Amino acid sequence: MKLHEYQSKRIFAKFGVPIPKGEVATTPEEAKKIAQDLGGSVVVKSQVLVGGRGKAGGIKLAKSPDEAEKYAKEILDLEIKGLPVNLVLIDEAAEINNEIYLGITNDRGARMPVFMASAAGGVDIEEVAATTPEKIIKVHIHPLMGLQNYQVLDLAAGISLPRALWKEFDVIAKGLWEAYKNNDATLAEINPLIITADNHLKAVDGKMVIDDNALFRQKELNEQRDLTGENEAELKAKESDLTFIKLDGDIGCMVNGAGLAMATMDILDQYGGSPANFLDIGGGADEEQVAAALRIILEDENVKAVLFNIFGGITRGDQVAKGIVAALKEIKTDIPMVVRLVGTNSEEGREILAETKMITAKTLSEAAKKSVAAAKGEL
Ligand code: GDP
Ligand code: MN
Repeated sequence: MKLHEYQSKRIFAKFGVPIPKGEVATTPEEAKKIAQDLGGSVVVKSQVLVGGRGKAGGIKLAKSPDEAEKYAKEILDLEIKGLPVNLVLIDEAAEINNEIYLGITNDRGARMPVFMASAAGGVDIEEVAATTPEKIIKVHIHPLMGLQNYQVLDLAAGISLPRALWKEFDVIAKGLWEAYKNNDATLAEINPLIITADNHLKAVDGKMVIDDNALFRQKELNEQRDLTGENEAELKAKESDLTFIKLDGDIGCMVNGAGLAMATMDILDQYGGSPANFLDIGGGADEEQVAAALRIILEDENVKAVLFNIFGGITRGDQVAKGIVAALKEIKTDIPMVVRLVGTNSEEGREILAETKMITAKTLSEAAKKSVAAAKGEL
């Protein structure tokens, strides 16, 4: 789950990171009022969950409240990479002498978070990493030990930060780490951390990504979630407790168990087919979930056939079958469906399915072959 810039910066501020004064607005009038209250120049910044806002015209420097109003209107009318701008942040403008990059993310290879700093801030860090990787200083943080004083010094020295700023840098680096750790983040980034004209450090941009698997204990953050731009099918699946990932193929897959779902995708590939999704309805899926899963699969316009591969264990074949029948009564579709049902109560399940027009298969390879043919319109 991504957080907006203003949300990220407010979290950083709670941990002692200095940020500009500012407020968010949803209308140009509100933006003007905020600019008046702040006094002086402000930056009007689109709050959308994609990068490259500046280049898309989503960040403007305003010299007066009237100008702030005008830019807010322009920016609120924008669409950035397909996303509408519903919110702008009005921040006190900073005078920038230098831009630094600071970021923490998980280094899976090292099995530890990694703290990165670069004197080449402000620009896209991926580009710095690709062209001049030596400009990025990295220290790994042991999750139990936390960020150590000497590591902060290594970072400060590594980016040749003037000595006069090391004390402030220490507070900011430790604050960023605490923000990362305490919010179950997978990314906490300040780009740029600026050196102001009066020689202080300030975070003018902020970005955080929270681990979705931790949202159950990050309830406050979860409530602030902005769903604009997230995959609708994946959100619906989450509501029904299904694990769903959209893919590019044309055969919808409904499978119980993640391992079996992967094997199903493999075997489709082996027979020249291509899965439209990964879907694990889980062990013990009920009628309701099966129906929800089928609806999600059929909403994808690319789907030309659906393959049900159900291995009854805890999941009972008759229950899955009832779910399919219930869903098909409600959803009218001509999409061909192939079903392979084995295990617990599969006999009862097959009897229930006999009343539908479904194509049955005894083995997984037969089911895969039939699905591939069905998707090509050959069945
Ligand atoms: P991003 O493009 O989405 O990463 O947005 P940023 O907040 O990082 O802003 C992009 C760039 O705009 C920064 O790197 C700065 O160069 C500039 N910028 C942002 N805020 C200010 C400000 O308050 N004053 C000035 N002069 N420039 C700013
Ligand atoms: Mn930035």
